[in-house]
Amino acid sequence: MSYRLTAPAPGWTTTTDVVVVGSGVAGLTVALNVRQAGLRATVVTKAMLDDGSTRWAQGGIAAALGEGDTPEQHLDDTLVAGAGLCDEDAVRALVTEGPDAVRRLIAVGAAFDRDEDGEILLTREGGHHRRRIAHAGGDATGAEISRALVAAVRSDPGVELIEHALVLDLLTDADGHAAGLTLHVMGEGQRDGVGAIRARAVVLATGGMGQVFSATTNPAVSTGDGVALALRAGAEVTDLEFVQFHPTVLWLGPEAEGQQPLVSEAVRGEGAYLVDGDGVRFMVGQHELNELAPRDIVAKAITRRMQEQGAEHMYLDGRHFGAAMWETRFPTILASCRAHGIDPVTRPIPVAPAAHYASGGIRTDLHGRTTVPGLYACGEVACTGVHGANRLASNSLLEGLVFAERIAADLTARHATGELTERAVDVAGARAAQPVPLLAPEARAEIQRLMTRGAGVIRSAASMAAAEAGLAHLAEHARADLADEKPADPRVETWEATNLHLVASALVAAAALREETRGCHWREDFPDRDDATWRRHLGLALQERGELRAQPSPVR
Ligand SMILES: Cc1cc2nc3c(=O)[nH]c(=O)nc-3n(C[C@H](O)[C@H](O)[C@H](O)COP(=O)(O)OP(=O)(O)OC[C@H]3O[C@@H](n4cnc5c(N)ncnc54)[C@H](O)[C@@H]3O)c2cc1C
Repeated sequence: MSYRLTAPAPGWTTTTDVVVVGSGVAGLTVALNVRQAGLRATVVTKAMLDDGSTRWAQGGIAAALGEGDTPEQHLDDTLVAGAGLCDEDAVRALVTEGPDAVRRLIAVGAAFDRDEDGEILLTREGGHHRRRIAHAGGDATGAEISRALVAAVRSDPGVELIEHALVLDLLTDADGHAAGLTLHVMGEGQRDGVGAIRARAVVLATGGMGQVFSATTNPAVSTGDGVALALRAGAEVTDLEFVQFHPTVLWLGPEAEGQQPLVSEAVRGEGAYLVDGDGVRFMVGQHELNELAPRDIVAKAITRRMQEQGAEHMYLDGRHFGAAMWETRFPTILASCRAHGIDPVTRPIPVAPAAHYASGGIRTDLHGRTTVPGLYACGEVACTGVHGANRLASNSLLEGLVFAERIAADLTARHATGELTERAVDVAGARAAQPVPLLAPEARAEIQRLMTRGAGVIRSAASMAAAEAGLAHLAEHARADLADEKPADPRVETWEATNLHLVASALVAAAALREETRGCHWREDFPDRDDATWRRHLGLALQERGELRAQPSPVR
């Protein structure tokens, strides 16, 4: 049984070879690389081309580029951060192919910061035992990567770009092979409203799901649409419980909601330290790397200290950098703090953890293939096995690059053998998929509140039961409205709210099942790591009657 969002039947259809959903580092890299095989690519993106998380990345991109550094050392640091759940072959692919993938990104046009001899400058971030983070524009790495990739796709006439278009659901052929998708193009134009794109393969690169929580570093487009679409199409998602909360997000007050400004780990990498309201450096003695301990450790330590002191935030002190260093090394962060009335040159920055990165996602193999034939996923929406229970800082841009290239290589190879054929879309079958009742737009804020209270940095069976009950109530409400013939209108806000609801339900289901503390999944009621029972991935798939079935699988 597959499901679809309630939406009008497609009013227009177009055809391509490979349709890519999302225009961050992952999606644009797939598009550029399949073009090299002569395939036509269509990139569909929800807002403007540069509106995903990629543009916001500050710290940089990790790769063993420095003298004395090796992929093996990068692998070791990644495995430690992943807390026993990384798939080693996936990490090996990441760290060995990473340095050349960064060089290819430079060849596309991304300009990284360099010293006077032209060598790429490398900084350190939490969990890395070496300086291996390449950065651009000081702390504007993602903006530079996005700029270079957007310029490259714009100059390639073989890449069709469809902006302001929300992808709804997967289309398959009679064999269940991905054959395209449905989408809704916003605004007036030739292709207004709901339509369909037929394709030989579909690549999801829709980014993260941070908007499931009230406070997040993710932009408004990060509503987990790709995960929700994949679940409705029958694909397996995995490790959703591992949401990384960034420890140092600018605290803007108790009522702040939505995207919040990040204060990059690189600020700690350059020597800023965390202090509580009394000026005590509370990370000292908690981990050998002090403030540069892996993110989950720092986020937990901050949360614990906030609870002990009844405080709403802690402080990050970088006053000793001086104005000149703030201005050259961290211009973006300096500007964003000052815009909110805090001058880091003269006072410590108030910080608190916020949802930042989804380590789990749509389960893929080493070539980005999901469990649905012809459907691929890469970037933050995917779970390649690289991050395990916790992503190592700055490995995500790299994962987006490396696995996008791997998908393009797989598609190129299939094209060469004649296997990548045109598919006949089973329109009748697609319409037969069960329509999901839509949630009202107001549900978005309620989902975020439920998830922040129930499945945030600290979780327990009781907190998650409350979240599950609240989510079930929202679904019941949508069903009742449908039965009373007053359903929510199909439109962007209701589709996004419905996607957020499915993703939140899957996340809580996984987090409630995993009765241990590991990586960024912190259970108050199960404070220890339990390798005997839980050193395994936790997959979920949507069943008949909309239930989520858990499918544990071994670490590869
Ligand atoms: C503030 C911040 C700082 C970060 N710093 C770093 C860092 O220093 N180093 C690092 O490695 N990582 C960092 N990350 C994480 C990293 O930026 C992301 O994991 C990465 O950029 C994700 O890339 P992506 O291509 O998978 O997705 P994104 O760049 O998020 O792109 C997703 C795309 O999908 C589109 N989309 C979503 N849903 C739909 C839909 N239904 N229909 C059509 N289009 C859709 C979006 O509009 C967007 O274009 C940071 C993240 C944030 C938020």
